[in-house]
Amino acid sequence: MKELEKLNELKPQMIETVRQLVRFDTVETAPVGDAPFGTGNKECLIYALKECEKLGMTTVNCENYAGHADFGSGEEIFGILGHLDVVPAVEKTWIVPPYSGEIVDGKIYGRGVLDDKGPMVACMYAVKALADAGYKFKRKVRLIFGCNEETGSLCMKHYFEKMPYPTLSFSPDANFPVINREKGMLGLVFNLGKLPDEITDFNAGLRKNIVPDECTVKLSKTFKGEIDNAVEKTDRGDYWLLTTKGVSAHGAMPKDGDNAIWKMVKALYKAFPANKGLKFAAEKMCDYTGKAWGVHISDKQSGEITCNVGVARYENNELHFTVDVRHPVTYTCKQVIELFEKNSSEVKMTVQVASEPLFMSEDSYLVQELLRAYKEATGKESYAISIGGGTYSRSCRNCVAFGPEFPGMAATIHQANECVDIEEFMEIAKIYMKAIKNICCE
Ligand SMILES: [Zn+2]
Repeated sequence: MKELEKLNELKPQMIETVRQLVRFDTVETAPVGDAPFGTGNKECLIYALKECEKLGMTTVNCENYAGHADFGSGEEIFGILGHLDVVPAVEKTWIVPPYSGEIVDGKIYGRGVLDDKGPMVACMYAVKALADAGYKFKRKVRLIFGCNEETGSLCMKHYFEKMPYPTLSFSPDANFPVINREKGMLGLVFNLGKLPDEITDFNAGLRKNIVPDECTVKLSKTFKGEIDNAVEKTDRGDYWLLTTKGVSAHGAMPKDGDNAIWKMVKALYKAFPANKGLKFAAEKMCDYTGKAWGVHISDKQSGEITCNVGVARYENNELHFTVDVRHPVTYTCKQVIELFEKNSSEVKMTVQVASEPLFMSEDSYLVQELLRAYKEATGKESYAISIGGGTYSRSCRNCVAFGPEFPGMAATIHQANECVDIEEFMEIAKIYMKAIKNICCE
């Protein structure tokens, strides 16, 4: 186990490299010159590639959208796909400045230490430790650094227009042990048409992938009927403001939330039973399982479809609902779109987004090797996971998500005080080293 010794020798350098990368503010900003995602991202990419060169790798920079660092030779490329860009940090909620990389109580703090700069550094040095320990590589390792994962993954679109897809890859940008099933994602917009004249506004939600916790409607005082008492009614002079409250949750897990739009729809349908749009919404859309809608599907690989009515807007006398759908991995987007079309003939439907599911069999060579590496490195139980969300792996082919968050780890990704315990960071690096060794070394 010479490589473990080598990795430990590299520890101070690894920590320093994480801290250096964290010091670049890589939140996406407007393009300037040859920096498509802002100068922070460009400079960070150049720095990361230079560090890889110092470790003996050869690098390519794809116009500052993304870049890669290669080690070893061999026909087949084994890809490791990570990103350098980060989500914003609200400084006043942090115990240290978010772009400082300060160490407090054995933990490195900073935006990006786990998502995703730290894990990429762990992989860089895992390769270096294997090389220092004298291993020969039968597959070429390619570390791919993207700069736009958080805001659209255009970096990978650009990159793969110029560069080949690796034969197999993992992305250290989600959870251990291995995520081999990611549901398909659809964004569907339904035009429910005109509301009764007494309703002059209908508004809820900011993003389709969040369960809305509030819905408001403006109701004219010319309305003389009854409104269900599930709705709060406030006198605003010339109109009533109707409000329903719910509980917010991630749109991929709507069962954890309580949808405010559903409550409003049901109440308004009682008051206006003749309105076609309200009838459709009340009878079909107020159920995240899709059963009432006739679109319920499931499979044993990834479970059931979910439908989240995330956004409601009333503009130009048309009520639009945007629905976030996560569908099982054994269905294509096209099949699911057709299913919705068939069951929504009363209203107009448009497809805003369609992202195919990701599915790699648990019996496949890649998943088996990653599961084995996790088990060997940690001594813990290893299993493959299915999720409703999407990871960076979708930007590639034959790629699955592998770490860095451990099951039960206190999640700090995308939150204030993102941090990684240094010992845990070394554990993460050991797992990656084991995987790279099993897959790429002779
Ligand atoms: Zn990430």
